[in-house]
Amino acid sequence: MRVSRKTCFAGLLYFVTAWAMIVLTSSGRDIAAVWPANAILVALMLQSPKAQWRPVLIVGFLANILANLVTRGTLTGPFLFGAANMVEVFVAAWSLQAKIGDGILRRPESVGRLLFWAGLVAPAVSAPLGAATAWLVLGAPFLSSLMTWYFTDALGLLVFTPFFAALFKGEFARCFRSKNWHGRGERLLLQGLVLVTAIGVFQTDHLPVLFLIPMPILLVTFRVGWLGTKMSVMLVAVVVAVAVIDGSGPIGLASLDPMGRAYFAQFYLASLLLTQLPIAASLASRADLIDQLARSQKSVQVLAEQSDILLLSLNRAGVILRVVGAARNLLDRPEAALVGKGLDVLAAPLRDKLMDAFRDIVDIDGFDQTLTVPSPRDPNRWLQARFHVIEADHPSEVEVALTIQDVTDRKRKESQLMRMAHVDAMTGLLNRAGFTDAAQRAITQARDGRLFLAMIDVDRFKLINDNLGHAAGDAVLVTIARTMKDYLRSSDIIGRLGGDEFTIIFSNVTEAQAHEACNRLVTSIAEAPAKLPEGGKVTVNISCGVARWHAGMDLESLKATADAALYEAKRNGRNRAVAA
Ligand code: GH3
Ligand code: MG
Repeated sequence: MRVSRKTCFAGLLYFVTAWAMIVLTSSGRDIAAVWPANAILVALMLQSPKAQWRPVLIVGFLANILANLVTRGTLTGPFLFGAANMVEVFVAAWSLQAKIGDGILRRPESVGRLLFWAGLVAPAVSAPLGAATAWLVLGAPFLSSLMTWYFTDALGLLVFTPFFAALFKGEFARCFRSKNWHGRGERLLLQGLVLVTAIGVFQTDHLPVLFLIPMPILLVTFRVGWLGTKMSVMLVAVVVAVAVIDGSGPIGLASLDPMGRAYFAQFYLASLLLTQLPIAASLASRADLIDQLARSQKSVQVLAEQSDILLLSLNRAGVILRVVGAARNLLDRPEAALVGKGLDVLAAPLRDKLMDAFRDIVDIDGFDQTLTVPSPRDPNRWLQARFHVIEADHPSEVEVALTIQDVTDRKRKESQLMRMAHVDAMTGLLNRAGFTDAAQRAITQARDGRLFLAMIDVDRFKLINDNLGHAAGDAVLVTIARTMKDYLRSSDIIGRLGGDEFTIIFSNVTEAQAHEACNRLVTSIAEAPAKLPEGGKVTVNISCGVARWHAGMDLESLKATADAALYEAKRNGRNRAVAA
């Protein structure tokens, strides 16, 4: 078993404290009225793994025996007192480590747990053992010993555990070192104020001025934080202990016996703790929260700086509150030129579109808005702006987040994909989906009887494939497509529906013009032989059925009519155009 230096120090401190308390607050034949010693061990155990608890308990046990032996001179008592104290220390350390770890007073809920486990449970376990020992060995009355043990130990743990825990963790030293001379001076001054007030109050025996003590402690809590509170309560406890011992100050006013004075002091300290600890803990957790917030804001900043997204926060009146990210790249304005201003500082047309969308989201619907606008730096680039309302309890605190991002590349890819989805890769003509879209649009703009649709199918195409191979078939299809493009007007919509099937929409033509175009197309194809990939040429024919569109007719029935005419053309010998 290894006994660390910290454990030896804790043992020594335990012995000195226990010895002093027995000498100062006990008659030698009863239980000491103030007992901070156990808190030393609990505080040390809270920051050690359970495997290292044994040496601490053993050293504490020996220190306790020694203190009792030196002061009381008997041998049986010390063993039993030591055992009772170590049971209490173990219960307190075990329950507190499970419930709060070593972050005493860092979170508000830790105060309740500290009060329950260290202030109620642990001393309730040890008090009967201690009182029984006092009765057996010292002949002290059981009930009053029970009460004394319970209150003194509860208070000893409550007041001193947070203090010693911070001391062992080096928190006081770290906190002090982290401050500049001004900060250190302020801390010393405030703690001095607590000490002076406490001494003043507990040495004044003609006026009950106990109410003065919380004031400087509150000041410490707010200015220094929870570490300051721990230190202050501990300082007051020491002053109170001295007052209990010599019966001075307000404690003496009530002309109580020593035990009564001890109870009075304990209750006073308990009330001080109950009011100060929750404030300290809630301030500490708020400080943690602010810390976390600052850290998360910093991460957002880093993230924004590394990404190409610009983030702006606006209030309801449209004033830009914060700007994070690449403002100059995207908006052509430096960050400083935006904060505190409205969206009207931006250049048109971006300004007008953003202001319209902002008004919509704030005044009308409150739903997110997304819009795509040309970049003010380069009209060939596109920005996407998204407005998102951040709700708040109070309407005046509602904010609108605006994110701006360059989406030019995405837009280019999208339109490329769109083109690919609408174009037949082999011939470069519109595919079925592309043709259907374009044809629908043409129909909605057409005048009655001035739009025609031709269905075209290659004659005996299978023979080409079968005799000359599939590649030759492909070459034939490509040649037909090129001939159609060369021959037809740019306003005609040409598509390949699949296989050897093509289709054309003629807009703004008379019936005669449409028929003429179809007839000439049939001839042109017959006169334009396709070059084959393996050399040589082949001539193919097409058949064509053409139908006139009438108002109210949909694309499908127009196609069906033209298809019927195509069927006629095939039936009548192919290589011809037939009107429906
Ligand atoms: P018809 O005069 O009655 O139209 O006779 P056809 O032989 O042309 O018969 P049909 O139009 O039904 O045959 C179309 C053929 O086109 C069937 C298929 O093998 C062929 N085909 C379909 N898509 C392609 C393609 O992308 N490339 C090639 N080379 N052939 C294709
Ligand atoms: Mg065919």
